[in-house]
Amino acid sequence: MAESPKRIGFNQKGICWKMALAAALLILGESLPAGESVNRAARPGPAALKRDQRGSLPALPFDHILRYDELTSLLHAWASARPDLLQIESLGRTPEGRELWFATVTNTATGPEAEKPALIVDGNMHALEWTGGVAAMNFLWRLVRDHGSDDRITRLLDTRCVYVLPRLSPDGVEATLREGRVIRSVAREEAGCAPPPGLRMRDLDGDGRIVFMRFRDPSGPWKLHPQEPRLLVACRADEAGGDTWRVVPEGLIEGYDGDSITVLPALEGLDFGMAFPDDRGPSAAGARQAPDPALVPEVAAYVKAIRSRPNIVAYVTCHSFGGGLLMPPVNPDDPLPQTDRLTYAAFAAKAAELTGYHPTSYLDLRAGQMTDVHIPTEIGWLYSVHGIFAFITEFWNPLKAAGISLDGPMSLWLGGYHPVEDELKLLRWNDSEIGGAGFVAWHPFRHPQLGPVEIGGWDKVHYWYNAPFDRLEKEVTLHADWLIFLALASPRLEIRSLRAQPVGEGVWRVRLVIENTGWLPTNGSQRALDIRGVEGVVAELSLPPAARFIEGDLRRSVGQLSGRSEQRSTATWWGYNPGTPDRAVVDWKIAAPAGTTVSATASHARAGTARATLRLQRPPG
Ligand SMILES: [Zn+2]
Repeated sequence: MAESPKRIGFNQKGICWKMALAAALLILGESLPAGESVNRAARPGPAALKRDQRGSLPALPFDHILRYDELTSLLHAWASARPDLLQIESLGRTPEGRELWFATVTNTATGPEAEKPALIVDGNMHALEWTGGVAAMNFLWRLVRDHGSDDRITRLLDTRCVYVLPRLSPDGVEATLREGRVIRSVAREEAGCAPPPGLRMRDLDGDGRIVFMRFRDPSGPWKLHPQEPRLLVACRADEAGGDTWRVVPEGLIEGYDGDSITVLPALEGLDFGMAFPDDRGPSAAGARQAPDPALVPEVAAYVKAIRSRPNIVAYVTCHSFGGGLLMPPVNPDDPLPQTDRLTYAAFAAKAAELTGYHPTSYLDLRAGQMTDVHIPTEIGWLYSVHGIFAFITEFWNPLKAAGISLDGPMSLWLGGYHPVEDELKLLRWNDSEIGGAGFVAWHPFRHPQLGPVEIGGWDKVHYWYNAPFDRLEKEVTLHADWLIFLALASPRLEIRSLRAQPVGEGVWRVRLVIENTGWLPTNGSQRALDIRGVEGVVAELSLPPAARFIEGDLRRSVGQLSGRSEQRSTATWWGYNPGTPDRAVVDWKIAAPAGTTVSATASHARAGTARATLRLQRPPG
């Protein structure tokens, strides 16, 4: 999940960077449990690859989360089945020796990747958010599987490129699957960063899940719901006494003083999402120019890969949970010109239509809290510094599954603002829809420090952070439809015509007409223009030795071309951009014998490259 504001507490003196990140995570979201827990989702060992019925591609399984070896086999099986569409490379090796697999998907028969506009998608920036990694793999699988049979996907790979990094944290995911550890991005400690005393989350009763502990406390804030004793409800403001309880996560208290309990953030709180370069630019006070390659080589390699691909127009990072789509602005002073605001709104509306996910700005999610704290994020960096339309998708929302109304951004993650009836609905959903698997029945346990307690409550890892396996494919499939839409919205240079007119003996007027047939303008975002991050369309004429150039520059910039994104409504003259702003005309005068072949190229970093050739011929008669 991304970060929703909750608590402050990180201006402690002498805090190290890792702890600062962990604390920032605490500020921004729910603290993650740390400790041991058996992964109920993983099946050990690579499973035999099942061939998809629709072709020779092995199918992506949805009944378990792929271990690293199985993921590796599957990616390479797909690539060897369709080498014309899919290349797999490693961006580098993780500290534990795993490759950072990176997929390039395009129809190489219609041009190389660098000459096509691109969408980039990643998963598992956060280790426990398995659903996001499945979404990235599913998108990749579907592109390769359905090229040639699905018109939109065929057009997408023929005219565009898609990059997919399905598992940004292979070490982290493997640790969550192998050992059941609950980890933000990766279980990697910064040296000399000793954790403070407090409650460490841990599986105490050996059932493989870290849930909650409840125990009677005369000043506890909770009491049992009269009809549903599994549920604890808040004591009323005017209430005192009675059978009151306290609730803490399942775990042990390091340095317990016998009275006070502080629940600690996960030890493994290092967050890749906050390790991208600072989006305020290198001149900002305390700005980090690049992630520390020693601590987060995965992010450093990914950043390098993104920077070396100027054709990227849009970016989506796949997370869970919440059932939401997060967009810039992230911080109150982040740029978001009106043109881009409208484009974001159009993309978000399509996402909402297809997935039902709630679109919101990251800043709105922060709900006005702690806006003096600048949050560095991947989407902030990509949009503000590179002018790339960047989104965080938060898959899956158990509240929505339970039929609870989700009004307002804070509802994405419950946020404590729902009536008790909603909590009862969640329990009924657990009982009737998922066979009771999501909620551990409260059972007595003798805690070595607290004495008699009850352990039980929601299994957040398998039913909140992630979609249950029987709902996983449906959850990610609708989102893949949106990714296809997003990729097809990118700009796309095409040559409308290349013609020549004789204007004298052996002298020709050559005319090239270029068009942007995509929806977005060639620059993609307005932000890309504002930061001078993208140059205009370049038209170039190439002549053989027999030909000579007379007038006009052989290589000419024609600026940016509009797409159709400004054509919203003809009902008012503000609702469209009249004329042919999507088209450019370039004329050259050359000397060449009839029969000479000339060639023209139109190119743009984000809108692709188009070529045409022409044999100079006098018109008949
Ligand atoms: Zn996340």
